[in-house]
Amino acid sequence: MDPEEYRRAAYASVDYIVDYYKTITERQVVSDVEPGYLRQLLPTEMPQEPESWDDIHRDFDSHIVPGLTHWQSPNFLAFFPANTSFPSILGELYSAAFSAPAFNWICSPAVTELETIVLDWLAKQMGLPSEFLSDTEGGGVIQGSASEAIVTTMVAARDRYLRDAIASKYSTEEEKEVAIAAARGKLVAFASDQTHSSTQKAALIAGVKFIAIKTYPEDDYALTGAALTKAFKEAEDRGLLPFFLTASLGTTAICAIDKFIEIGEATKDYPHTWKHIDAAYSGAALICPEFQHYLAGVEYFDSFDMNMHKWLLVNFDASCLYVRKRKYLTDALSITPSYLRNAASDSGLVIDYRDWQIPLGRRFRSLKIWFVMRTYGAKGMQEHVRKTLGIGVHFAKLIQARPDVFSIATPPRFGLTVFQVVPLKPEETANDVTKKVVNRINNEKVIFLTASTVDGEECIRVVTGSPWATDKAMSEAFQYILTVSEEERQA
Ligand code: PLP
Repeated sequence: MDPEEYRRAAYASVDYIVDYYKTITERQVVSDVEPGYLRQLLPTEMPQEPESWDDIHRDFDSHIVPGLTHWQSPNFLAFFPANTSFPSILGELYSAAFSAPAFNWICSPAVTELETIVLDWLAKQMGLPSEFLSDTEGGGVIQGSASEAIVTTMVAARDRYLRDAIASKYSTEEEKEVAIAAARGKLVAFASDQTHSSTQKAALIAGVKFIAIKTYPEDDYALTGAALTKAFKEAEDRGLLPFFLTASLGTTAICAIDKFIEIGEATKDYPHTWKHIDAAYSGAALICPEFQHYLAGVEYFDSFDMNMHKWLLVNFDASCLYVRKRKYLTDALSITPSYLRNAASDSGLVIDYRDWQIPLGRRFRSLKIWFVMRTYGAKGMQEHVRKTLGIGVHFAKLIQARPDVFSIATPPRFGLTVFQVVPLKPEETANDVTKKVVNRINNEKVIFLTASTVDGEECIRVVTGSPWATDKAMSEAFQYILTVSEEERQA
């Protein structure tokens, strides 16, 4: 593809994308394809001869697009949103054009410096404490995902714990080594039973134990200080070493919020235990001052992560991780073979983000964040959050207005409503009828939603954060859910 061919193809692709968004509401939100469909359509070997863009694009349109789920559709009410926006798409385009695995500052100084600036802007806008800003001992870094952020912080936490809580008690290198080796097998990471599975997965990767602390409906499924104290004590009685904790601001199933202040107080005697806040989805709401009270207690925590790529108009991937002391990341993750050394890095005046993450190379992700921040402004981003929250509240009210058919399982939060269908027949349970409703809805593909289990109860989750969402689309979705529920209760 020469430059002029690229120009033609790129203009046509932009037209295609604009038309896609203009017709998004008309598209069936979930694909009809069967598993393995694409193997039937594509050759078994890669092409040996060059092909024309027109041919490639024709196959893209006829083979690939039909296999897509339309996450930006207002009828996508499943999981959590995965927004994008036009300025974000433009950021991706330029990022690809200036492709560089910018692991060190010198690899492309603007890539590093823009990242530091936009992450500071975001931290200030969210009301994070100043210790998380780059002009202190802390700072922010873009990770690929909230899961990656947890693995990264867990590795730093493990390193810090073994050094500061274990090795520091011994004087000789040999004693230190023996003590560290003995402690490794006793390290345990904690989270609540509502916490996203990424903490358990991080523990698996880091080779440490994992304990999920049970939560209760009377606490709104939040992790409390008392539960944490008890869990730490029980673990210590078994000879285990609590070195890491994930607390959540908005869990996946029900958007539960752990008690940060209580957790901070309960862990005062555990200075070496790393405390991380996972605000992957709900953290987006913090750009509005009226939600910043949820941060109370954040001063007790070592790290905080939120995904702009969920609700905040930046396409995947843009997980914004903040640490109170960047030294712990770089202590754990910095290895500098001679070929990575350079005068700028040696000067200590620049950030090399490779030392704040697991991979070496990194993408130019700050560009799309910068484009979105400038195009929307804080005001536009707040408007988006408030508008989509309002649509969520509108849906929750519709559900609450029909207690004969629906029962709310947990308080609606951050635009997420979790509910069950009330059975009509005495021989049927709420679990049975709710499962039938979810299965039928997802088979019919008018809307797409997810089920989740809360304390053994099968529930339906409905959430939208799409910039394309409207009250009207949500009312239609409600009407459809109501019709299906009434039919299934009677069936
Ligand atoms: N934490 C929470 C609360 C989530 O809801 C999710 C995903 O939905 C994650 C973490 C994992 O996010 P990621 O896909 O960025 O790893």
